[in-house]
Amino acid sequence: MTNSLGLYIHIPFCEKKCNYCDFYSAFYIKENLATYLDALKGEITKWGGQTDRPIDTIYIGGGTPSLLGEEIIPLANCIKENFNVLENAEFTVEVNPSSRGEFLIFAKQAGVNRLSIGVQSGSDETLKILGRTHTTTEAALTVNAARSLGFNNISLDLMIALPHSDNQTLKKDIDFILSQNPEHISSYILKIEQNTVFSKKYDTLNLPDDETAAEQYLFMCRMLQNSGYNHYEISNFAKENCESRHNLKYWICDDYIGIGPAAHSCFEGKRFYYPRDLKGFINNPQTVFDGESGSKEESLMLGLRLSQGVDLSKIYDEIPQNVKDKINLLEKAGYIKANLPHVSLTDSGMLVSNSIITELLENENF
Ligand code: SF4
Repeated sequence: MTNSLGLYIHIPFCEKKCNYCDFYSAFYIKENLATYLDALKGEITKWGGQTDRPIDTIYIGGGTPSLLGEEIIPLANCIKENFNVLENAEFTVEVNPSSRGEFLIFAKQAGVNRLSIGVQSGSDETLKILGRTHTTTEAALTVNAARSLGFNNISLDLMIALPHSDNQTLKKDIDFILSQNPEHISSYILKIEQNTVFSKKYDTLNLPDDETAAEQYLFMCRMLQNSGYNHYEISNFAKENCESRHNLKYWICDDYIGIGPAAHSCFEGKRFYYPRDLKGFINNPQTVFDGESGSKEESLMLGLRLSQGVDLSKIYDEIPQNVKDKINLLEKAGYIKANLPHVSLTDSGMLVSNSIITELLENENF
């Protein structure tokens, strides 16, 4: 564990709920945002008073942080006044292509140096089905505007296994993302979550079956790797030295503080979160304890998400023989790269990472 900390700030507002989304967000009303920002700054001040550890990554996510407009400047100032933010800290903000306006200029002034843009698809028709409010033209304009402002660390989101998708539409989506030449790509297999618009019309969605979704994932991995992107985490690809420093903290069990409803923290041996309750956060912000952090199981579960895998050398002698045998079997089946005591997942293994991890952790002595 490093001494430095990550800081996550949640902006829980959206202008419209996307059809697949179950992230915590409320309908955007300007006055509510102002009230929320007061509460948020109160919590930032509180946490800043509890630690002097240096902050080396800040991530403002949502919801739709680009709805902050020029308010991102006082928010960033509040963070810098209350925490010891390092000069070279990575400072990311999520941007929705349909609400960019002058936001990118304000983000630049606030010291943001990395953007994560929710492009999702290279087809206007698919964006409509997803319930997104932007078009592919707006997405490309946002990337261009960011480049002309000097942003040189841009991540684009891409969704796969979408309604009505096939090899052709997938290739079109990937080609569109690659044509924007981002430094980083986050790609997610669409999952139908409960209480979303998609969950209510599941039967009409014409989704690819599991086998086709798996083929799409492996096709995407090959295409991005052949285009110079390192597949460094199950859902993340980066050009050299452009991995998300903030997100890496989640997977290597480093400390971070998350502020806002539904934001999670891992701090000084404990995990905790703010409930998904905007009113509660505004009136009486309290975190809920969510267990100790840093167990062997947790390190394995999170570490195996990374292509660098996990180094089991410290516990290798304690690993029961039947677990070592399982590792051998999974290697023969093409799911694991085992250079014992070092273990990582192949692209095929990443597709079924949950089952592999469950299989390995089944033995209570592990
Ligand atoms: S903009 Fe993002 S957070 Fe808001 S509804 Fe859409 S996917 Fe969810």
